[in-house]
Amino acid sequence: MVPCRVGHGYDLHRLEPVAPAGAGRPFILGGVRIEHERGPVGHSDGDVLLHAVTDAILGALGLPDIGQLFPDTDPAHDGKDSAIFLQEAARRMRAAGWEVGNIDMTVVCERPKIGPHKQAIVARISHILGVPAANLNLKGKTHEKVDAVGEGRAIETHVVALLVCR
Ligand code: MG
Repeated sequence: MVPCRVGHGYDLHRLEPVAPAGAGRPFILGGVRIEHERGPVGHSDGDVLLHAVTDAILGALGLPDIGQLFPDTDPAHDGKDSAIFLQEAARRMRAAGWEVGNIDMTVVCERPKIGPHKQAIVARISHILGVPAANLNLKGKTHEKVDAVGEGRAIETHVVALLVCR
């Protein structure tokens, strides 16, 4: 067996004005609360980055995806801290004999700017996963003002995770 496995995660959430003006939840990205007038619409806390990291790890393991493990039809997941989903993926990863080699993450949104929050987000994901921050990388991109993401109506994430044999 090859002593490493790769997984890919993708997610997108609609962004709306934060309640009560709209259906947006407070803006939380990678487990970090960021002040922004719009926020993700979602069943859990809508953390589009933790969802993609969770799916990347689950994908590398060949396990069912985040939507299958934590259905958005389950009222128990309403407003739930997405760190719980990621920690469950990490638990399953270690139980199966794997560890994170490195994770590369890209967030695409017009605003807020990701740069000023990069360090805090990486530190938070490092803590949630129990993986050194040096093995996590985060990039912020815009969508050049076109389409829903570029018009600030959505945010999307792409994540690649490499797992190595423990
Ligand atoms: Mg999601």
